[in-house]
Amino acid sequence: MMTRRQFLCTSAAAAAMSAHIPRARAAPFDLIIKGGRVIDPSVGLDATRDVAIAGGKIVAVEADIAAEAAETIDARGKIVAPGLIDIHTHAGRTKEGPPMALQDGVTGWVDAGSGGADNIDQIAAVARGAPQIGRALVNIARTGVIPGGELMDINAANVDLARGAVVRNRDIVVGIKARLSNNVAGTNDLEALRRAQEAAAPFNLPVMIHIGQSYSPMRAILPLLKRGDIVTHVYAPAPNGILDAQGRLFPDVAAARRRGILFDFGNGVVDHFDWDTVERATKQGFWPDTFSTDWNVMSRTTGVVDFPNVMSKFFMFGMPLMQVIACATVNAARVFPAFDDRGTLNVGAPADVAILELRDGTFEFLDNYKGTRSGRQRLFPIATVLAGKKTPARA
Ligand SMILES: [Zn+2]
Repeated sequence: MMTRRQFLCTSAAAAAMSAHIPRARAAPFDLIIKGGRVIDPSVGLDATRDVAIAGGKIVAVEADIAAEAAETIDARGKIVAPGLIDIHTHAGRTKEGPPMALQDGVTGWVDAGSGGADNIDQIAAVARGAPQIGRALVNIARTGVIPGGELMDINAANVDLARGAVVRNRDIVVGIKARLSNNVAGTNDLEALRRAQEAAAPFNLPVMIHIGQSYSPMRAILPLLKRGDIVTHVYAPAPNGILDAQGRLFPDVAAARRRGILFDFGNGVVDHFDWDTVERATKQGFWPDTFSTDWNVMSRTTGVVDFPNVMSKFFMFGMPLMQVIACATVNAARVFPAFDDRGTLNVGAPADVAILELRDGTFEFLDNYKGTRSGRQRLFPIATVLAGKKTPARA
């Protein structure tokens, strides 16, 4: 990695040489993103900056970079953020998924349990062929997600087969997934989670659980989670969500956060959140650590639309923009070591950048129960830079 000082010296030397051989002069940068509002929560930056990129890496973030670049993006009036990382998607189901997500600013994704031991190899193949970094969670049920519920027969949760799936795909698998809702697991929720932990243990991997309308209450589920595990669909309505019958946050949930359990939004389509639960929980200070879409190739026609639209829902509820972007970038990167060098525009980081626009107007946002809330601002994906290259815009 080039330090800034080395970089400045190198460009000074290059400039001196080019004075003698002007025709051989090459632009010192491949790309400059000029004049945007750079919001990089990894370093607490929110200011007008130019971002210079060379060799697929961020090489400078400065107030005004005068040097030449092979290509320039005019980002005036736009937000320039680290590439978005979506930790709960189903982008691995088809090879068409990842390029679509890329157009929404998503430069890293996790497929959260589409596949189990029987079919994770196909998901892993899609991840390896994706333009951006794609990773996967192995569903503890060998079938992966199936209609009717993959854990209704607890024998589907086979620890040895799940471990084998991890071993075959160590480059892609970053954790284990268990869906615990009553319509997925019935009365098997706790046993399925125990088996997910058993499968994850030899590899020291996190487990992501999908909650909402489970047979068992959160006070029975949470003790089975370890530091670094993830609860997705955090605002799933009763029965057995994070709020008691009076709408108060269960003390067990706050305690779980204190011991390092992470809480993810997981927008989805059916039964995963309603506005009332979001409002009650956030009024008690219980915000998500990460957002995610529960995305698939149909999401543009559902209440998900795209990742920036999901982020806008929390902006509507009063989360500061810096925090909104943190939840979609650096916080997500910290969940899985595979994303260690992502979610930041720091010099030396891979040049994955999401260019967004915060538009004023009247925008309707949907929950999973046809509930609408109206917001005054919405984030739109404008352009994505992946490994220093501008990717084709969304049609
Ligand atoms: Zn999902």
